Amino acid sequence: MKIIKSPKELQQECLQLRASGKTIAVVPTMGYLHAGHISLVDNARNRADILIVTIFVNPTQFGPNEDLDKYPRDFENDCRLCEASGADIIFSPEADGMYSANHSTWVMEEQLSLPLCGKSRPIHFRGVCTVVAKLFNLTQANVAVFGRKDAQQALIIRRMVRDLDMPIEIIVAPLVRDKDNVALSSRNRYLSEEERTGATSISRSLLQAEAELSGGGLAKVEAVKQDVVSLITAGGGVIDYVEALDAETLGEISNQTTGVLLAVAANFGKTRLIDNVLIEFNK
Ligand code: AMP
Repeated sequence: MKIIKSPKELQQECLQLRASGKTIAVVPTMGYLHAGHISLVDNARNRADILIVTIFVNPTQFGPNEDLDKYPRDFENDCRLCEASGADIIFSPEADGMYSANHSTWVMEEQLSLPLCGKSRPIHFRGVCTVVAKLFNLTQANVAVFGRKDAQQALIIRRMVRDLDMPIEIIVAPLVRDKDNVALSSRNRYLSEEERTGATSISRSLLQAEAELSGGGLAKVEAVKQDVVSLITAGGGVIDYVEALDAETLGEISNQTTGVLLAVAANFGKTRLIDNVLIEFNK
């Protein structure tokens, strides 16, 4: 497994690989890898000849009062996990290698980015789209795997790829949960024991809501959302949003809706956690 830090070196290598007929899969991450990330690596492995994991805590997707400086890092362990999972290349650039001091070009998706996390993190998806577009250009990847843990992000990336005719296939892999059903996240390590116990209310309420809404029952959506709010609040969480939206458009649920994304963001102490369930109808 190669570790490459220079964007230009990665691009050279990948251009050569593609010219020699190899296909490339990429799994973009911010590192501090856990089983959720590894599930994406496993998913990607047989989709191409070469498997690249990128590890980059992208500064442009963090707002001024967010956790960029304390975002957890453990590069050695990340390397061990990637090697054990069959990655061929780890790309781990420095921020100043990715962004020139006078960087001034951004990729903005302007519809799916507005609700949910876009409301409380206004520049977040601009940073995500820009870095992901750069990673696609650097890796020359044929296929990229993202997780449904970040369902809104996955929809936005798909839209960006369609709208800008990027020659890459986007795979969205299932959300992976811990033993107590909490969605795996690098940010879980910020949680105190008490907050972690409280945070189980997110998945408990979502999984309960999923059971109630499955098999129809859209009329119950508002009541179910209220139950989610109550359970998370009782668990000590401060709600940012609990929303039930059309899973494809992220607009209001309508009679065209065939899937509902029930999505939550809530703070436990200083830690902002997100989670969601996808309820599909007519399938
Ligand atoms: P991050 O390192 O948090 O930026 O995440 C990198 C990728 O891993 C994104 O595509 C996430 O959606 C995905 N991911 C993170 N946590 C999980 C999880 N618990 N289950 C599935 N995918 C995940």
